[in-house]
Amino acid sequence: MNVLIKIEKDRKKGIVSFMKSLLEKGIVTQILLPMKTPTKTSFAYILTKKPDILDNCDPIAPVMPIQGARIVSKLTKKGPLKGVTAVILRPCELRALRELVKLRQAQLNGLLTISFDCPGVFPLRDYLNGDKEKMDEIFWQAINKCELEGSRPLCSICHLFTGELADIEIGFGGIEPDTICLTSHSEIGERALRELGYEEATLENRQIYLAEIKERKLAKRKEFFEEFRHKIKGPERIMAVLTNCINCHNCMRVCPICFCRECFFDSDTFKVSPEDYMLRAERKGGLRFMPDTLLFHLGRMNHMSISCVACGMCEDACPTSVPVARLFALVANETQALFNYIPGKDLEEPIPYLTYQEEELKEYEQPYTEEYAP
Ligand code: SF4
Ligand code: SF4
Ligand code: SF4
Repeated sequence: MNVLIKIEKDRKKGIVSFMKSLLEKGIVTQILLPMKTPTKTSFAYILTKKPDILDNCDPIAPVMPIQGARIVSKLTKKGPLKGVTAVILRPCELRALRELVKLRQAQLNGLLTISFDCPGVFPLRDYLNGDKEKMDEIFWQAINKCELEGSRPLCSICHLFTGELADIEIGFGGIEPDTICLTSHSEIGERALRELGYEEATLENRQIYLAEIKERKLAKRKEFFEEFRHKIKGPERIMAVLTNCINCHNCMRVCPICFCRECFFDSDTFKVSPEDYMLRAERKGGLRFMPDTLLFHLGRMNHMSISCVACGMCEDACPTSVPVARLFALVANETQALFNYIPGKDLEEPIPYLTYQEEELKEYEQPYTEEYAP
């Protein structure tokens, strides 16, 4: 079901008013959505049952200080919350959440998921150091075009930027700027729109408009990956890209897909004795500290590149500006293409590493050759 809502002031207020009506009419019990922090310097998710609180919320934030899938996982991993919870998530957050559902680390029962045409987000550091009022304004103007200038690199090549996997999709592209459209993609979504008394509408140009943006982004994405692949070819170049890594593991901690309860890289198995360090130093002629940077990144990639949703969160969290999300997204793009898998898209499709077969991918079973050895 498609609905067109004429908005009185601006699109932000239009979304707030829609969210409030969900609570006021008892369609949902509580809502999880972003809000400016009291200092007005950033945003945080808030879970509330009070419609009045929504007057001050920012249903779509210009930055991603936390990956929303992680919050929903914390709230639902042991069972659904009481009643129905509406949650607004960006498309990449929603895909991460659906991936976590497959990993039994979250559930969708009792949720009304809402997503939207995402123009991207500003790099968190740029926003924290920038003119926030101006950036907020630029962001809401970008919402109309579904493209944000100055967004994070991965957002500028994000081709899965629409909310069609949600129960309710909020659309901005290809419609009049004084409207927002709502599209239901599930029974619970359609019921909610009907209970709100909306009438069905026809959206004529929206899909054409979105397809054009998608095509542009796909072309940009292809070009970017070609360039970046060249940049990381061989151990020396990949180490050059990772050279500023301080091994803080922030990228791992903020990643919605890093789901292991205990990380191998934080475990006792990975604790090396001083004697071993000495041996390695002697063997190599010198040992860089902290060691095993490449092993950490390759190990993490090995675990989760099939499920990486290219959300860019890890790069935002990196204190030394390592292009870690770009690196992971490139590898993820290739791993996912190999298995014809889009993380979070189809809830029924198992994650490829959960369906391991002994007889597959034989073409990759070659002994390692020292192609890059000096
Ligand atoms: S990667 Fe960026 S553009 Fe794509 S959905 Fe996430 S925040 Fe939006
Ligand atoms: S890539 Fe950045 S966030 Fe990740 S371990 Fe290295 S320094 Fe820390
Ligand atoms: S590796 Fe980075 S880009 Fe990929 S899902 Fe994790 S945080 Fe997002």
